[in-house]
Amino acid sequence: MLHRVVFAAALALASAPALAGDVIIDFLDVGQGDGVLIRGAGKAVLIDAGIRDAAVYKQLRTLGVDQLDLLIATHPHADHIGGMTDVVQNIPVKMYMDSGQPHTTETYKRLAAAVTEKGIHRMRATAGMNLKLGDEAVLHVLSPGASYIKNTRSDLNSNSVVVWLEHGEIDALFTGDAEAPTESALLRAGVEEMDLLKVAHHGSDHSSTHGFLSRVSPEIAVISCGEGNRYGHPDVETLDRLAGLGALVFRTDLSGQIRAISNGTELDVLEGDITMFAAAPITQIATDVPLMTAAPVTPAPAPAEPVTPVQTPVEAPTTTPADDTEADEAPSWLSGVRPSAPVEEPSGRGKKKKGKKGKKRGEP
Ligand SMILES: [Zn+2]
Repeated sequence: MLHRVVFAAALALASAPALAGDVIIDFLDVGQGDGVLIRGAGKAVLIDAGIRDAAVYKQLRTLGVDQLDLLIATHPHADHIGGMTDVVQNIPVKMYMDSGQPHTTETYKRLAAAVTEKGIHRMRATAGMNLKLGDEAVLHVLSPGASYIKNTRSDLNSNSVVVWLEHGEIDALFTGDAEAPTESALLRAGVEEMDLLKVAHHGSDHSSTHGFLSRVSPEIAVISCGEGNRYGHPDVETLDRLAGLGALVFRTDLSGQIRAISNGTELDVLEGDITMFAAAPITQIATDVPLMTAAPVTPAPAPAEPVTPVQTPVEAPTTTPADDTEADEAPSWLSGVRPSAPVEEPSGRGKKKKGKKGKKRGEP
């Protein structure tokens, strides 16, 4: 049964210009893990690929995805990259981005080898990079910063790639398995309200602090976790905090796949059978807009005042750090602030408050 709920962006203005195309966000049913497909302007971006058994590459095919413009591994744990090697080997991928943190597992090594073997352009996500989908949607990398957060309960989790999708008046935040230290850094960097939040770390109690959730204050919260998982995700206190903020919570363990469709002013949420989603028309995705083109260089917050003042990234033997030489090879639709570039005061950026007039899309 397909369940449908429509949410208007808070205080979306009637005068907001109509956007040419929708952005469709699919939270794939990957059991205990994460897998999020974002499509808009004829482009497809996958954030994480679940465990291998979830066979995300097959799900992508069912959804009609024959190419990925960008593949993001938020961090190298198997519940996020376990299915990624199969994706890389079965679906053409133009660009791969990760947090730049290597892992010792065979799962990680296999993925790194596959990315290399396929000759996929590889980048280390760094706060300040912007990836533009057509003219109207932008993915902003908010974390990790140029320096990593160190000495946390899980540095791999804490340095998850965090991206903010901005589509007209609609804002969505994808947090990987970011934990409390990441949330503190995002707060310092000025992260603001979001319409939709992919709740960090499967709703665990290592994330979703009250301060962070209060600031982000999502209308829709999506938790990706497995039915009856052995970790007890999501944590009951996380659910309580979300409920206390009035967020409507969707869970993949209860709903299976969850789809959110943004038209730039409203979010339309559906949950249910993947085959019904596949049958649903996706014709509203604009295909006449150019390839992702360089977004205006908006110096992004570096959430990364490191928790400890580490000046150099951890060793990343098989990962290409973002540096000047890499910038020359980056696809034209990627723009970024190099780690050494000056960073504006965090308060000077970040999304505007909901309902504020005259959102200046496209301005530098
Ligand atoms: Zn995870």
